Amino acid sequence: MKIAVLSGKGGTGKTFVSVNLAVTAKNAAYIDCDVEEPNGRLFLKPKNIKAEEIFTLLPHVLEEKCVGCRECVELCRFNALSFIKNKPFVFPEVCHSCGACSRVCPTQAIYEVKRPIGVVERGNRGSVEVVTGILNIGEASGVPVIHKALETKTLSGGIMVIDCPPGSACTVMESVQSVDYCILVVEPTAFGLHNFKMVYELVSLLQKPCGVVINKEDHAYAQLESFCKENKIPVLCRIPYKEKLAQIGAKAGVACEEDEETKKLFSTLLDTIKMEVEK
Ligand code: SF4
Ligand code: SF4
Repeated sequence: MKIAVLSGKGGTGKTFVSVNLAVTAKNAAYIDCDVEEPNGRLFLKPKNIKAEEIFTLLPHVLEEKCVGCRECVELCRFNALSFIKNKPFVFPEVCHSCGACSRVCPTQAIYEVKRPIGVVERGNRGSVEVVTGILNIGEASGVPVIHKALETKTLSGGIMVIDCPPGSACTVMESVQSVDYCILVVEPTAFGLHNFKMVYELVSLLQKPCGVVINKEDHAYAQLESFCKENKIPVLCRIPYKEKLAQIGAKAGVACEEDEETKKLFSTLLDTIKMEVEK
């Protein structure tokens, strides 16, 4: 069973929910696809880490073979090639490694070279496999790193919890492609609801079943309740605003291991999700 945990913005509690869900499930893989800011490992503190470098292919122009026809520059829809001093020049940061330019070149003046863009680390915290995608600073797209992290296989009967990037960009779409269910984490505020609507639109477009976890709830926010009701989005769990949870988070602890109420909450959440997936 693959579960994606999403939120409209950073700081909503997406990693908190993902980490606690994976620890509660025990037979689980936690996949951190928030590759620009992978924080789950700070709480899970995985052991036995093995790192794999991730590469993309970058076009390289052999000047002596180039006849200056500009076909490659005109073809590149990402504007990653520019014609400078009668030769094509590649901007690595915006290249999407689609390979089109090398295929179109009539003189085979372009060949592709490997370029490192990040790392996928694999370790474990007891029975929980911890997979962390890490994008190198300055890279434009984390999709290849996410793709590699998601190649993880869970043990029989296990659950994969995917901690998605915040927002609704293409990295989020990549993270939720093959999931069975999406958990949307939201704070009960006007700003929280605004961002939540964008993520809800994305999972609806992808036709993924979803439910809501309301985090840091100190009061019922009427507009959020009505939005969920109108769109028939089930509220899976309400995590109360509690000083103790902030204290556990501040020292990088795992709340379901240190707070009895949170332990029960996540155990019930896990059962609820299993029922939702089987519907
Ligand atoms: S590989 Fe694709 S994105 Fe990169 S420069 Fe060539 S055509 Fe453009
Ligand atoms: S397509 Fe090939 S020959 Fe034409 S400008 Fe690009 S590199 Fe040069």
